[in-house]
Amino acid sequence: MVEKNYGNPELENKLRDRNYYVTDSNKDFSAEVKKLSGTISHMCYQCGTCTGSCPSAPRSSYRIRVFMRRAILGLEEEALSDPDLWLCTTCYSCSDRCPRDILPTDVIMAMRNLAFKTGHAVPKNFLQTVQLIYKTGHGVPNNDANRAVRERLGLPRDPPTTHTYPEYIPGIQKILDHYNLKAEADRILSEE
Ligand code: SF4
Ligand code: SF4
Repeated sequence: MVEKNYGNPELENKLRDRNYYVTDSNKDFSAEVKKLSGTISHMCYQCGTCTGSCPSAPRSSYRIRVFMRRAILGLEEEALSDPDLWLCTTCYSCSDRCPRDILPTDVIMAMRNLAFKTGHAVPKNFLQTVQLIYKTGHGVPNNDANRAVRERLGLPRDPPTTHTYPEYIPGIQKILDHYNLKAEADRILSEE
């Protein structure tokens, strides 16, 4: 089992004894997650199909079902300060398979947005991805190795994205600037 570090000894103690502390529950958090995700998170009946479908689960301590429970119980701090929040690959397997037609992926995305907004720790690689998108329009920009493979496959060296049409990059930068994402990513990374 991966050793967890929430940076909050009181929370770590509570998590160890597995009791549900009503005082930790924030109903507004449940409502906010539901609103941001646009999915019916309150309909989760904890069947576990999502975790059983999740490619991250066998490789880490990340359990999407736990986050679904936290969404329902309003356990804001448990959810937003858990480093596992950032281990979802957004593959959408859980959302394809949920028998209640919930979109757990979007619940995670909503929680990540709330974590960023409320100043919880965001992994460095996510912040670097923001910088790359700002610069190139891609979270994973093309490189010479990929270009050579594309060429061998008879494809253009660059895909028909901002790599081919860099004139669209300012539009992407405008969106990121609107949410202050690039400036915040720069600030947090410079403080590390
Ligand atoms: S598959 Fe759907 S209903 Fe089942 S635990 Fe996951 S989110 Fe809840
Ligand atoms: S979207 Fe995230 S939580 Fe859902 S199966 Fe994929 S990695 Fe797991």
